[in-house]
Amino acid sequence: MYIVSACLLGRDCKYNGGNNANEAVIEFCRTHKYIEVCPESAAKLPCPRPPAEIVGSKVLNKFGKDLTLDFDRGAELSANTCLTMAEITGEPIEGAILKANSPSCGCGKIYDGTFTGTLVDGYGIFARRLRRMGIDIITEKETIPW
Ligand code: SF4
Repeated sequence: MYIVSACLLGRDCKYNGGNNANEAVIEFCRTHKYIEVCPESAAKLPCPRPPAEIVGSKVLNKFGKDLTLDFDRGAELSANTCLTMAEITGEPIEGAILKANSPSCGCGKIYDGTFTGTLVDGYGIFARRLRRMGIDIITEKETIPW
């Protein structure tokens, strides 16, 4: 079973109320078992919502509101949901396809906290948690290897 960022499947959970539908990811999910998650929705953040970025050890929205605890909670709830589904279905988690550059889902590159579209090396809060669980992660920008 694969973990997939819900916005890549066309769910309107992106901060601006839209989605990041990706045809390659949608096609992959037609033939593979998957669970879709949106950690920011799991944290019950509103949609639409102001954009947020990781700034040092915190997650702040563009107005400076500290959302660190919300992002941590959303990541934990989403990861627990995935583990529970894997246990219930007997389908091990084989990897994750997450939305690039997001402060939750980004993998390898994330926005730098200046809200200027600048990328730096790093991982979103949910991606960090999956990495600690030993799960292979790619983003929609990569060729799906599975
Ligand atoms: S938290 Fe992840 S799944 Fe949710 S909208 Fe952001 S990038 Fe997409």
